[in-house]
Amino acid sequence: MTQPNVFQEGLPLRETGRFRSEIDAASLDFDPELLELLLAEGPLCFLDFEATGLDPTSDVLIEVGAALVRPGTRAVEIFNSFIRTDRILSPFIRRLTGIRQEDVDCAPPQAEVATELDRFIGEVPVVAHNATFERTWLTRAIHARFEDHPFLDTVELLALVYPDARNMKLDTFCREKLGRGERHRALDDALDTLRMAVNVFAEAREGSPAAANARRALERFHPSSPWLGRLRRAPSSRVDRRPAEPARHPAGEPPPPVPFDLEAIAERLEQVEIAERVIPGYRYRPEQRRLLEHVFDCFTGADGKTVRICEAGTGIGKTLAYLAVAVPFARETGAQVIVSTSSKLLQRQLIEKDIPAAAWLTGHGDLRYTLMKGRANYLCRARLDRFLDQSAAQLPPPDSFPLALIAAFARSAGHGEVDRIPGVLYQLYPELERCRREATSGDATECSRDTCERTAGTCVFRQARRRLESAEIIVVNHDLLLRWPPDYPPLTHLVIDEVHELAERADAAYARTADGIEIRHRLEAIADESSGDLLRDPRIAALARRGLELVPQVGAEARAIVGSDPGTYRDELAIPMDGPGPAWGGLLECCGELAETLAELGRRLADAADSDEDPATGASEVLTDAASIIRSSLPVPDEDYVVRFRGLARRSDDQWRLVATPVSPAADFQFEILDRVQTLFGTSATVSVADDARGALGSLEIDERAGDRYQLEPPVESPFDYANNLEVVFIDEPTRRERLVDNTVEVLATLAEHLGGSTMGLFTSRDRLSTAADLLDRRLSPHGIMVIAPSSGNADPHDLVRTFCEQENAVLLGARAFWQGIDVPGDACRAVVIEKLPFDVPGDPLIQRRTELIERAGGSGFYDYSMPRMLLRLKQMVGRLIRTPTDRGMVVIVEARCDRAYFGRLQEALPPKAATRKARLADLQEVVQAFFGTPG
Ligand code: SF4
Repeated sequence: MTQPNVFQEGLPLRETGRFRSEIDAASLDFDPELLELLLAEGPLCFLDFEATGLDPTSDVLIEVGAALVRPGTRAVEIFNSFIRTDRILSPFIRRLTGIRQEDVDCAPPQAEVATELDRFIGEVPVVAHNATFERTWLTRAIHARFEDHPFLDTVELLALVYPDARNMKLDTFCREKLGRGERHRALDDALDTLRMAVNVFAEAREGSPAAANARRALERFHPSSPWLGRLRRAPSSRVDRRPAEPARHPAGEPPPPVPFDLEAIAERLEQVEIAERVIPGYRYRPEQRRLLEHVFDCFTGADGKTVRICEAGTGIGKTLAYLAVAVPFARETGAQVIVSTSSKLLQRQLIEKDIPAAAWLTGHGDLRYTLMKGRANYLCRARLDRFLDQSAAQLPPPDSFPLALIAAFARSAGHGEVDRIPGVLYQLYPELERCRREATSGDATECSRDTCERTAGTCVFRQARRRLESAEIIVVNHDLLLRWPPDYPPLTHLVIDEVHELAERADAAYARTADGIEIRHRLEAIADESSGDLLRDPRIAALARRGLELVPQVGAEARAIVGSDPGTYRDELAIPMDGPGPAWGGLLECCGELAETLAELGRRLADAADSDEDPATGASEVLTDAASIIRSSLPVPDEDYVVRFRGLARRSDDQWRLVATPVSPAADFQFEILDRVQTLFGTSATVSVADDARGALGSLEIDERAGDRYQLEPPVESPFDYANNLEVVFIDEPTRRERLVDNTVEVLATLAEHLGGSTMGLFTSRDRLSTAADLLDRRLSPHGIMVIAPSSGNADPHDLVRTFCEQENAVLLGARAFWQGIDVPGDACRAVVIEKLPFDVPGDPLIQRRTELIERAGGSGFYDYSMPRMLLRLKQMVGRLIRTPTDRGMVVIVEARCDRAYFGRLQEALPPKAATRKARLADLQEVVQAFFGTPG
């Protein structure tokens, strides 16, 4: 039977009490000198709980781990125990923590643990990662006195020291800073929290200015922070900024430059021994040559076709193909080439790896390239300094973590890209959003000599702009591309990677939005007495105050309708095209008054403004625009738009957005992109199905709007041997929704049991995924197979994929975020299960309007719109399996609808020559065995 006191990490157990022991700090690899610095202000108790869930009102604790360290002693005092509960642990919690039912069944009761833990902590301040959670549990489950106990939160420490961290998860920090793998046990996490705090001091000793920058920010803006005294002891005294330098390839002298000539470029790509120096494992592929020709023809305008879209199957090396053309083109013609991608991952890969490699390989190692973002993503030094100075001058002096964070970010993150502040910090500290807005530049008119003379030398936006002006290759994201700022260099030559994402991005980019938070911030700034001259018109202040009352009322009214209408999404509320019903009376009234208020305020601010550069001008434009969007949306929307309130599930009534999405983004796309570019080459691994690109690009109408310039190239197919390496199985059972989860679990379990894990399940519904995860866990845990599934909507797919790859025996389940862009090469994934065909969610108003318009024009909403979109997604899902030439595996589609007339068309979405078969569920075991053979 398992002992109640179980120490992880192989710690030697030397009990000094029922729950306690002591360990030498050196045996845990703590540097005694750094530990002393951390503890110079007194002892600390690092603590972590595991519980049956996240809600202290309904869940219970199941494990506690604590490490108490005191100055002047090298012993780490340990407290670690399971906590008894009569609850059955959910499969998810067992999966996440590795705690078994028998561990808690025979543990000491909570009252006993509470008494011991209370005594263990005593008066020592508690440190935890996301300490609100531990404080709540301590107060509710251990002792009410913890309500007033001193706490330190390492989320705050790490956010100040690493303000551009990838995310704020303890796991991520431990992996990236300490090289430690993922753990979810209480004592592991308590000790890792301690390790991360010590690591801040270790980096400072090595010369990092980050701790000193954090200290200085706290001194100025958050002097009550309990971390301030500790950071004053950090070894570094230097307060500095890190320069942001793009990485360069260290491969030495490049080969001779390649001219912009197809044969010369192709010849260089054939020189494997040269390419291998910058691209490990490089292989020459004839398919890459075909793609190269299409890109080259596009850039030379062969046959007048300067807008070309080409699908490039997995494993072709498409990035190198287009860069190998774009680099010599840019060098020889002096023209800039813009490369647009959808994902940050690909942007990073381009900047850090692919472009340096392509530049070196084509003999242009001195190529100038840069990543550019939208203006609002960069700190504006003029606005930042003004904002921080004004904040510091307030009486009483400020004591605000978000202010300190922005100040620390400005010093430590030399790139100044505020979109790299982890999103979770905005949720934890809503005030941070206001700080971000105040410190970034939203408007080109602000960048005048007058406003930024003092700070121009340190302005990260100007630095980025300078790099932009001189760059030969510029990497951007689709959002920036689609709304290319007029003051950026002209769009002339364009490569759009991940082009299949462009249409959906265009829906968002060309939407008009009235944002409750943005309106509130503008109104607060106006109502603020420091607005000085504006208040000479007393009506302005009165209107701003009224607007501030109305903004949350709009959110509350919209939420009330969502709550009463089961047909709407919880987070959003669509404005009916045939006019709102009686329940909408309060919302219409609020919106009407808000629109009037904002419009009048906009007029008065415009009159009060001295010049275009007056901040009142910017505020006037924002508020007038918001008024116009509200007026054109209610009570009945403009027929060219689908209008929805969004963000209604957020915490505050201010966080609504009224979003008007164009039913067709094609006209905007033509105006913003097509009519401006000389060259457009779009590519992706999934562009078309059976030469039909409507699923990916239909709503952009590129074919019609680019006219004679347009050509859809024949796909360049993947070099992989699908005929031998892929089998697609369609489960041939009648479509019965109530059996879907059970059937999916059956298929997943059959494959996972046969393969010992190595299976990925792709779902179209988060609820079904969650149910399936629990059922599957019960079935597979006796076989030692772990089920990995997102615990909430915001789980990072890449974190889960990393865990899936690291585990030897695991099943990974995912919903929409996993359908594309997930790459699991090798044996970690040998089977993909698709629970059902990925049609659009019924009831989406934008989809409904588009299908209506198609049908009004005599087409079929199903066959001309829904089907191409579904087939494209299916192609993406199937594409998750075979990622390298040696991968071999099986795709099983559970609800394949073999009985439907369109079943035959599913074949079009599969890789060419892939083996296919139908199978009854009862025969699956045999089919799996025939393909994979008997497990060894
Ligand atoms: S140029 Fe001046 S106003 Fe413009 S973003 Fe930079 S510091 Fe701000």
